[in-house]
Amino acid sequence: MVKQLPTRQRVRRGILTFIFLTFPITINYLSPYVIIEAGSQGIINGSLIMFGILFLSSLFLGRAWCGWICPGGAMQDIIEPVNNKVVNGKKIDWIKWVIWIPWISIIVWMVIQAGGYSKIDFFYLTENGISVDEPMKYIIYYFVIFLMMGIAALVGRRASCHSICWMAPFMMIGRWIRNKVGWGSLKLASDSSDCTNCKLCTRSCPMSLDVNGMVQASKMEDPECILCGTCIDQCPQGVIRYAFAKPSK
Ligand code: SF4
Ligand code: SF4
Repeated sequence: MVKQLPTRQRVRRGILTFIFLTFPITINYLSPYVIIEAGSQGIINGSLIMFGILFLSSLFLGRAWCGWICPGGAMQDIIEPVNNKVVNGKKIDWIKWVIWIPWISIIVWMVIQAGGYSKIDFFYLTENGISVDEPMKYIIYYFVIFLMMGIAALVGRRASCHSICWMAPFMMIGRWIRNKVGWGSLKLASDSSDCTNCKLCTRSCPMSLDVNGMVQASKMEDPECILCGTCIDQCPQGVIRYAFAKPSK
């Protein structure tokens, strides 16, 4: 018999499936290219505003976006049954920074060349707010899907989040600032005294984190944690929970 997912994970999967289905509408609002084109004309576009919102959300919600709302995450969760291999984050996590830093530099350069931002157009390069409004634009749409899913299918669970995601660094920087300043935010908390070391949490983590090790070390904070709650729902002892708390000293 196929084991049913816990209710919270079914809700999360449902949200992600909906987000994936609406991706033809939203792709330009998360596009790493459209922000460059808009920047070259001095326009604050939808993706710049969205990346700003992601950064601000991470100050209080960490990377919950990645676990609950991101279409890129949804694509990789869909392909997970094809390759559920654990990913060694230490080997590939750095790649996204090698992509992100030059990309941000190009945007800044384009905006400087344009004489700064002079206009806001949230719906820039969309037709009535819809991103894929003509058949040719499906080429870009399918390219993004094949890229995100292809890497996850070849390397393992959520490998694109680890390696090529251009959105993750915004939230990782936000998380870093939050931890430095020390205000409260959504995170994981645990009580290792009830842990039986069954490692179900580690085996189920979509980001391939050593959750059992985190519990044992009482260090539940990791830059790659997407706050999906899978470990919470898989733990038979109820050791892990969500908490809204300040960073531990
Ligand atoms: S540690 Fe838990 S909440 Fe964080 S990504 Fe892994 S399973 Fe999700
Ligand atoms: S699933 Fe729960 S009991 Fe098992 S190792 Fe993880 S925290 Fe400990």
